[in-house]
Amino acid sequence: MNLNGKTVIVTGAGKGIGRATAQLLVERGAQVVALTRSAADVESLQQELGCRAIQVDLADAKATREAAIAALPADFLINCAGTTELQPFLETTVEAFDHLYAVNTRAPMIVAQEYARSLINDGRKGAIVNVSSVASFVGIPDHAAYCASKGGLDGLTRVMARELAPLGIRANGVHPTVTLTPMAVKAWSDPEKAAGMLNRIPVGRFAESSDIAEVILFLLSDEAAMVNGVSMPVDGGYMIA
Ligand code: NDP
Repeated sequence: MNLNGKTVIVTGAGKGIGRATAQLLVERGAQVVALTRSAADVESLQQELGCRAIQVDLADAKATREAAIAALPADFLINCAGTTELQPFLETTVEAFDHLYAVNTRAPMIVAQEYARSLINDGRKGAIVNVSSVASFVGIPDHAAYCASKGGLDGLTRVMARELAPLGIRANGVHPTVTLTPMAVKAWSDPEKAAGMLNRIPVGRFAESSDIAEVILFLLSDEAAMVNGVSMPVDGGYMIA
């Protein structure tokens, strides 16, 4: 995919999958506009990848909308930022639930609204990829709020796909399995738990961030022009094992 002259908004571009995706986009010629939280990441995205980086806390709805508008115009949108908090279902707090929903579900909606409005106003076409998780398909212990937030994101993806495709904007979801990023280290540091998960992945390994980035770029590309509204696992076969 040649992305020369294309501008791509990537949320959560500071670390992990978002960072790897931003890097791949830059390698393929795109200008990346990063929406991310840590000042150090904003700085390194600018210095190392030449991104335009906007610092925002995506848990703040008003700030998220302002940042989304500041990021425009753009050709493509990748909603990648996400967060997790491990709590058994019976101990899941309202605070954690609301926070995960704000970052993982509400923020992608807000950014996609502003992105899509801008394209529609300008009469241009585009594509959105929302980074969900296999956790939206299965109940992973200690991930109640996370699973719910990603299930909510999938619902948004499907409605976007129905409403926006007639206007020239496709929307799809990617669903990584455990991917070796800072978030995964937080969630899968217990070797016993990690082994249980790994044993269910037929290709025999966890994903690398670049595995996910390549699929995201495919879904944005014209080669995927007839792919709309899918929830694509990038899981080494975890879902069929
Ligand atoms: P990381 O924790 O490595 O990176 C997440 C990025 O999102 C960071 O740059 C982080 O910024 C940013 N972010 C998080 N919260 C906020 C916020 N409130 N405001 C602004 N930016 C924020 O995560 P991953 O790369 O692992 O995850 C990326 C996506 O992939 C997420 O949506 C996640 O749910 C999904 N996913 C990940 C899997 C995995 O195993 N890694 C598996 C399945 C799905 P900062 O560090 O500054 O807070």
